[in-house]
Amino acid sequence: MTVEAHIPDSRFGTAIAMNGLHAHAVDLAATRAPRPLRMAGEDPDTAAAAVFSLCGSRGQLLPRFGAFTYDNPWIAGRTRCERCSWVVALTRGTVEQEIDLYAGDDECGGGLLRQIFTSILADAPPEGGQAQVGHRSDLLAHAARHRPVITVCEECCEAGSAPTHGPGVKRCPHSSSVCIECSFVAGAWAGEWEGTIAAECEVQSPCSTLVTLAHHYGISLPSSESRDGG
Ligand SMILES: [Zn+2]
Ligand SMILES: [Zn+2]
Ligand SMILES: [Zn+2]
Repeated sequence: MTVEAHIPDSRFGTAIAMNGLHAHAVDLAATRAPRPLRMAGEDPDTAAAAVFSLCGSRGQLLPRFGAFTYDNPWIAGRTRCERCSWVVALTRGTVEQEIDLYAGDDECGGGLLRQIFTSILADAPPEGGQAQVGHRSDLLAHAARHRPVITVCEECCEAGSAPTHGPGVKRCPHSSSVCIECSFVAGAWAGEWEGTIAAECEVQSPCSTLVTLAHHYGISLPSSESRDGG
């Protein structure tokens, strides 16, 4: 893969989606004179501009949202758009960091996802050096959306594992690895339970998307994961 680490952080700005929940990336080198949303007379430094992000979503751009980096606090509290994120990583040469972002914990099923990423990177055609979505970046984003996420019991969620299950316990004994993308996640209607997985549809990881990708690339599944595809 080509590494273009000389491209600075500042090349890609952070755009917050109109719903406020998602963070996207904007190629500032290709975005000329974003259309301002501000009223006449408003301070240009605090006024948002309407832009299209790398994945084609509309968002608002403000100078204080900063660059689309891994430690940007504006992104941390939101859903980081996987499609935008992979384009930035491939363009800037931060592929290893990007893989760690989604497949960081090998113990929790990240190992399979890591192998899938590596296989896609070795197989799918590069985007030709341009900072735009393509076959490769979108396939990587597709796999990333189906990453394993660890769930813990309600008490652990509120108090931590050791206070709940006894000293020395680092991981909740009731934890499981699920696919959030495939599972049914409660919306704002659920009040304090918003964002939790509803009992009707909790899909274990690896889900059939990851299993299908693994089969395509000839990656063998860990024995406990090969029984079904979720
Ligand atoms: Zn996006
Ligand atoms: Zn899934
Ligand atoms: Zn627990």
